[in-house]
Amino acid sequence: MTRPIHLFNTLSRRVEAVEPLTPGVLTLYTCGPTVYNFAHIGNLRTFLFQDLLKRTFQRAGYEVRHCMNITDVEDKIIRDSQKELPEGADNGTRHGAMKALTDRYTQAFFDDLEAVAIPQASFTFLPRATDYLPQMIALIQRLEAKGLAYAREGSVYYRIAGLPQYGCLAHLDREGMQVGTSVDADEYERESLSDFVLWKTFKPGEPSWASPWGPGRPGWHIECSAMGMELLGERIDIHSGGVDLVFPHHENEIAQSEGATGHTWVNHWVHGEFLLVEGEKMSKSLGNFYTLRDLQEKGIDPITFRYAIQSNHYRKLYNFSFEGLTGARNALERLRTFRKRMEGNFESAGGGEWKEALDPLRRIAQAREDFWTALSDDLNTPEALAAIFTLVSDLNAQDDRAALTREERDAALAFLDETNAIFAGWPHEEASLDAEVAALIEARKAAKVAKNWAESDRIRDQLKAQGILLEDRKDGSVGWKKA
Ligand SMILES: [Zn+2]
Repeated sequence: MTRPIHLFNTLSRRVEAVEPLTPGVLTLYTCGPTVYNFAHIGNLRTFLFQDLLKRTFQRAGYEVRHCMNITDVEDKIIRDSQKELPEGADNGTRHGAMKALTDRYTQAFFDDLEAVAIPQASFTFLPRATDYLPQMIALIQRLEAKGLAYAREGSVYYRIAGLPQYGCLAHLDREGMQVGTSVDADEYERESLSDFVLWKTFKPGEPSWASPWGPGRPGWHIECSAMGMELLGERIDIHSGGVDLVFPHHENEIAQSEGATGHTWVNHWVHGEFLLVEGEKMSKSLGNFYTLRDLQEKGIDPITFRYAIQSNHYRKLYNFSFEGLTGARNALERLRTFRKRMEGNFESAGGGEWKEALDPLRRIAQAREDFWTALSDDLNTPEALAAIFTLVSDLNAQDDRAALTREERDAALAFLDETNAIFAGWPHEEASLDAEVAALIEARKAAKVAKNWAESDRIRDQLKAQGILLEDRKDGSVGWKKA
């Protein structure tokens, strides 16, 4: 049984029920990081909202097949990875420098995700763009065959005039827009609507791959279309990213995928809002630019940051402040204290006059209903959390007067577990299985890199003995499930 979930769809500008193409199985594609630097807290806000979205569907009874790409070839990556190399460096050296930079920041990114309770093992697919060059080239060829792409001087461009629905996501007014020029940059403003680049011809000082159009490299937009279609299919349920990706990135993904297949690619487009810092746009020049590491250096628990982000609605601007984090810390403390109280068996002092009869089991059922009503309505996290806190107040008051029974305490704990499975802030402290398994998967990965097969097998067997089965996937990621 699955609960219906409604989400705002950028395509229709309405809150709509999500109806997976395969009942009970949700396919979710989210644009991953461009790994040339540490993720900043604005980036993390997007990944946290997508984690909440995924966990909500999972707890609502769906199997979620989640693909998040790692962009490991792109303009900024090339700029930063090649600047130290001598002019005459060969292609192998250039690729090596690019890989060294992206490996380093990919690892840093996963470390940050783990810290905010987004385990690597929670993704079904984590493809790296450079592993999907054949799929990107094949997709561009498909567009060429349909007359939607044209080659010019070794580069290939998308002919946007050939696709009537171009602009449907960003709600572009195509009348009066100058169409037909072409642009080589991956990022541009909607005022300069243009034929965008699918394949970029080789430039001195850049790494390149062989292609039917000569040496070059993929444009950023084609990467997501190729990986998403290869791993999740030519029709998917939800595609998500930050609002800054609506145009041109997602508009161009639609053009590429729908141009090639001739049918709808994504049913639901879901975008998360920006984060401001103390009321201002985050920027290095204003000195208000933070990574998660900066917060950790200030002694802030990443889970407190997670809670602060998630206690705000994903479609509202979030104004980050250190004061706000104090509020988040207090809220988490309140829930954790309540959990401890429910885990124990206290003798109540009793004797208080109880004005209103309160049936704790019914009260918990009501809170669960309120919680799910809020989350199902476009992930209304402020109201979902309010449902938990109202219950905490009521049960604390009740327990002060007459101790709750073991059955009532267990019902409250079950509700805390259910809500924690989504928010990840008030776990049962001994329940660290996920973290333990994730650590062993990492250790096994390191053993494999070191070609220490005995150690890698030993870890697999150790997990098996604990009833955990590993699944090595073709994109190199590892999933696990309980036997
Ligand atoms: Zn993307």
